[in-house]
Amino acid sequence: MQNIIQLTHIHKSYTLGQLKQPVLHDISLTITAGEFVAIVGPSGNGKSTLLNLLTGIDRPCRGEVVVNGSALHRLREEQLSIWRGTNVGIVFQFFQLLPSLNLLQNILLPMDFVGKLPKRERLERARYLLNLVGLDEQAKQLPGQVSGGQQQRAAIARALANDPALIVADEPTGNLDSATADSVFELFSALQRQGKTLVMVTHNEDLAQSASRRIAIHDGRIHDDQYLSKQQSTA
Ligand code: ADP
Ligand code: MG
Repeated sequence: MQNIIQLTHIHKSYTLGQLKQPVLHDISLTITAGEFVAIVGPSGNGKSTLLNLLTGIDRPCRGEVVVNGSALHRLREEQLSIWRGTNVGIVFQFFQLLPSLNLLQNILLPMDFVGKLPKRERLERARYLLNLVGLDEQAKQLPGQVSGGQQQRAAIARALANDPALIVADEPTGNLDSATADSVFELFSALQRQGKTLVMVTHNEDLAQSASRRIAIHDGRIHDDQYLSKQQSTA
């Protein structure tokens, strides 16, 4: 199988005034296309920082980040922003839908940004994605008019808008009750079955155990890395 993510000797520090705070220490990691990776670990240990490096939102101080064939550490900001538009879908804990746009319009935005499809096809695809996440009836509702679980489903549909190979999610179920969290997780599992690669940070150990691989981050290092029973191994 093809590698979709290759991190090589990544170091990341943040500098606050005179203080340099190391956050990630020498992380090397390979993720194969089609894996569903759960990242767990205590707060403040570098999980979100790691995700931000995978999406090119942030850059490593040292080391190489190759995602879906592009060496992100070598791209300029504007190249990164174009790359991100079609290569990765991002899902956040607090959904981050635009509150003044209805769900359909929120899903159209990333397609409008990339501008590849004609307008009518964008609309068709947005409706298809709303159906995929079970929100046909809510297309014209504003984010504030639907439940948290429905907002997260809309955010997942938005992440899928430009058909990225990789979906990255930072505690996507952290703000949902457990039944809703399970249903959102099930949606991610269905995306894996359709061939997407998923990398999800979660505090929920049950959900992490249902992924195909569990990576524990501790003090900015990979503390543990296990393939779970569902995984068809690396053959
Ligand atoms: P986690 O997601 O595991 O809770 P983070 O990656 O968000 O951890 O943060 C790791 C450490 O880096 C924390 O100490 C946090 O305060 C610090 N940090 C994260 N982002 C920034 C930033 N943009 N500027 C300065 N420090 C940051
Ligand atoms: Mg975090």
